[in-house]
Amino acid sequence: MPATLFTDIEYLKGVGKARGEKYRKLGITSPYELIYHIPRAYLDFRAHVPVCQAAHGEYNVLKLTVLHKTAPQRIKGGLVICKASATDGIDDILIVVYNNVYYYQALKEGSTYYMYGKVTGNMLRREISSPVYISADEKVLIQPIYHLTQGLSANMVRTNMRQALDIMRSEPFETLPEEIRRRYELKPLMWALENIHFPSSDAAAEEARTRLAFDELLKLQLGMSLMKSRSRRSTAYKMDSTTDIGGFYDSLPFELTDDQKKAIGEIEKDLCRDVPMNRLLQGDVGSGKTAVAAAACYFAAKNGMQSALMAPTEILASQHFATLSGFLEGLGVKVCLLTGSLSAGKKADMRRRIAAGEIDVIVGTHAIIQKDVEYRSLGLVITDEQHRFGVSQRAALAEKGDSPHKLVMSATPIPRTLALIIYGDLDISAITQLPKGRMPVKTYAVTGKLRHRAFGFVRERLDEGRQAYVVCPMIEDSESDLFAVKSYAEEAAKNDLKGYATALLHGKMNAAEKEKTMKKFRAGEIQVLICTTVVEVGVDVPNAAVMVIENAERFGLSQLHQLRGRVGRGGYESSCILITDNTSEDCIKRMKIMSSTNDGFRISEEDLKMRGPGDFFGSAQHGLPPLKIADIACNMELMNKAQNCAREILAADPELNWQQHRTLKMDVMRLFNKDIIG
Ligand code: ADP
Ligand code: MG
Repeated sequence: MPATLFTDIEYLKGVGKARGEKYRKLGITSPYELIYHIPRAYLDFRAHVPVCQAAHGEYNVLKLTVLHKTAPQRIKGGLVICKASATDGIDDILIVVYNNVYYYQALKEGSTYYMYGKVTGNMLRREISSPVYISADEKVLIQPIYHLTQGLSANMVRTNMRQALDIMRSEPFETLPEEIRRRYELKPLMWALENIHFPSSDAAAEEARTRLAFDELLKLQLGMSLMKSRSRRSTAYKMDSTTDIGGFYDSLPFELTDDQKKAIGEIEKDLCRDVPMNRLLQGDVGSGKTAVAAAACYFAAKNGMQSALMAPTEILASQHFATLSGFLEGLGVKVCLLTGSLSAGKKADMRRRIAAGEIDVIVGTHAIIQKDVEYRSLGLVITDEQHRFGVSQRAALAEKGDSPHKLVMSATPIPRTLALIIYGDLDISAITQLPKGRMPVKTYAVTGKLRHRAFGFVRERLDEGRQAYVVCPMIEDSESDLFAVKSYAEEAAKNDLKGYATALLHGKMNAAEKEKTMKKFRAGEIQVLICTTVVEVGVDVPNAAVMVIENAERFGLSQLHQLRGRVGRGGYESSCILITDNTSEDCIKRMKIMSSTNDGFRISEEDLKMRGPGDFFGSAQHGLPPLKIADIACNMELMNKAQNCAREILAADPELNWQQHRTLKMDVMRLFNKDIIG
């Protein structure tokens, strides 16, 4: 059977079963996917230097004629070493190849090659070891470098790549209508794919990359929009718009902020439509999203509907349970906690009561979306810290119940442009103000020399009755000299925190241990929590007013902001001390930004500027389909272009049903796994 773009990779000429397996390891199952295995870099054979100018100890490109090959020598340990003398016409050099006899044998005496490899030796005897080479007759002097896996050589992949491109060339297809390509100045797809792998010039590689990154960003947005419109097609339970939740407002121990009220209003409106709500509640750390969620649950309960609130960790789930019961039980709303660590008997009993409708609000980890949990009347599903859940989990949740209304809460402020992409399938409510009386967290960046002084300050606050977090990047000591919580805690107990109640919290503890520790910390029995970033998300202990972050250079801006958000949640003046000895420009800049602002949106803008949008896509946080090209190549301008283009296309053809959008739609579905878009 001749291979086509979408047959199994093993049918590609010269691949076969064994090599097919290797390709599968790289996630490549068809020639089409091989073509989208984008080079991570290029080897440029054009920039060759004479032997006498080769930089020692570094990689160089040389143009060499092979003079004399000696027979391969077997040395100890089964190692085979091959040597050949060569010249650039003026100076001689020794080519040394280890273990790769086949590769060595392909070299011909008297032939000339471009060779790329590390040059070592001295003025009298120079060596180039295990060079990558191409014939000097080769026309394509810019060669792709791919991510490889054991048993799959660069040359094999290049050869297979040419074959895959040949197949595509025999039946080229194009995802973008000509008119769009022209208007956005984009190269044809076939051209772009050829030139991303075998560019004729730097400019060609760049243009190819632009076209492919544009495609990816466009597909991403189209996919998100299609998901949105699909969910709009189903019908949800329409709640009563005259529902009065005044009782909830009255029972709160505080006055809601205007933004909280506005968000609740938007949610209520959504709940009273027969189209399922699909809303993102975005608000900086500590802005009070949980109270908004509680209002929504109360609204649903008054309509006789159940709500489910899903948190990414057990710590958070039990915290939400405590908060929601506090807000709601007094109003006659029944709240329960359902997590994986409950005993089987308790779980069964809980499930029975949920199915019987005895419980109004179910809080838990993803245990609450398991198949065996049946709801009597699930009307509202809330997910907290949504970036921990993927797009597909979002979709799975939607399948629960009869198209429930959905609210997702995220504390990761994302600049608008990015939010439109990452949450393109959602409407957005934003809480931009913090509750009254909240004082900004004073932030200081210091070097390790000031550690003891910093702890002097920490002890003062502890003596005043406050609590503290100390964050380290590692759990156990490793070869890196990064701080690890275990040894750090031992050391601190002997010195800086002697006599204070400390405890560990990290990701290797089981759920019960973690919960026990958090309970004690919340109750004030533990004064200092020495922890890893497990406390990053959502933990709410208002009495904690100091945070020390060790190896602060290890954390990105947004992460630092999230961590810092654990303090400053009560009415106390709070501080965050960042300790780092790193003096890189990048680190200093991050420390300066952290010390100068508490505004999450500003911080994320800065983060975006410093890291580029690629990093947002590259990080697994948002659960988008993995991007291959855009994450390294994209810039804001390209993103805006792709956004405009998506908007235009959808305005004209909302479901992508037009003939000229068919290949594009298929590609979108491939990116998102067909099942998400119906
Ligand atoms: P986040 O948005 O980070 O999830 P939380 O919902 O955990 O924030 O709220 C942070 C803290 O602020 C909680 O202790 C909560 O009870 C309190 N809070 C929420 N809203 C207000 C408000 N309007 N006024 C005062 N305190 C509030
Ligand atoms: Mg929260």
